[in-house]
Amino acid sequence: MKKLRYFALLLCMIFSFTACSAEAVDFSTTTTSNSYASSGTNTKLSDLKVHYIDVGQGDSELLQSNGVNILIDTGESDQADNLIRYLENAGVQTIDYLFLTHPHTDHMGGAVKLMEHFPVKQVYLTNRTHTTVSYRKLIQTIKNKNIKRVQAKAGVTINFTKKLRGEIVAPNQTYDDINASSIVLKVTHGSNSFLFTGDATIETEQDILKDGYDVSADVYKVAHHGSSTSNSSEFLNAVNPSICVIEVGKNNSYGHPHREIKELLNKMKVDVYRTDLNGSIIITSNGKKLSVSTKKTSSNRNDTSGTTTSKKVTYIGNKNSKIYHKTTCSALPDKKNQVKFQSKSSAEKSGYRPCSRCKP
Ligand SMILES: [Zn+2]
Ligand SMILES: [Zn+2]
Repeated sequence: MKKLRYFALLLCMIFSFTACSAEAVDFSTTTTSNSYASSGTNTKLSDLKVHYIDVGQGDSELLQSNGVNILIDTGESDQADNLIRYLENAGVQTIDYLFLTHPHTDHMGGAVKLMEHFPVKQVYLTNRTHTTVSYRKLIQTIKNKNIKRVQAKAGVTINFTKKLRGEIVAPNQTYDDINASSIVLKVTHGSNSFLFTGDATIETEQDILKDGYDVSADVYKVAHHGSSTSNSSEFLNAVNPSICVIEVGKNNSYGHPHREIKELLNKMKVDVYRTDLNGSIIITSNGKKLSVSTKKTSSNRNDTSGTTTSKKVTYIGNKNSKIYHKTTCSALPDKKNQVKFQSKSSAEKSGYRPCSRCKP
């Protein structure tokens, strides 16, 4: 599959406007697509859609196949409304499986609001607890809502559908380090596979390899937002992905993704998608072929640029004198006598003459 895909990718680059068909989501504003295999034969598999949702600095991935919705992590609590809107747009009514990789708020912060909004059938958690209020609230909500709680640990396998299989490959112990305790999940769909890592660390990676799990995957969710405390070259070589996705916030204070990891991925010649640059990333699998589309959303903005719609003021007129000025003129009228214009021509059209001092 992998060699084939490289050939296909080449073909795609050459015939990118004709040969590459990729399903684009209809609620998108900006969508770009790439296709990853040439094989045209249809299989009886239902498509799998994997959404790497842009939740700023945090993780959230939605897998959809055959009407089954699987959600891995929820992002921060302040992203919950964005997340819920995204899920509704993707047609989610019920969460069949919720995985919360570890008790950090950039992964489980939105879970309480999510559980208030959608019925959740079961939640997978590790036995790594945390002392924070948000963690206690999460556990309380799971209890109050009578949601089935399943312990996630290495060796657990799940048949999400007849054709969609999950295997938990970590954690195999209780780590002191909360990130190291992350659930690592491999999902297989036909000949395609996806690896989800939460914030697993190099320690976790070494344990996974020691346990002998096959972590090879076509798509790798880069661990811990591209931190260099994860993603050892040894582990990346074992995964040997074609596509990497980094879930990361714009201008985050951690410097994620770290330079070393960007260089490592560059050297491996894999396609890298990032939520801070691409928005949400949707990868569709038909069991043989993968296609990628990206969708810009507004959640990865931690600045206010582009959110204001107020009209730009470029010239200020004096209602009494019917003279218009640059906004920097020293002879501007009182606020109550000001009228704003966006262009010289609109000022002239309204019968205003230019100020002789500021010469607009
Ligand atoms: Zn974490
Ligand atoms: Zn994190």
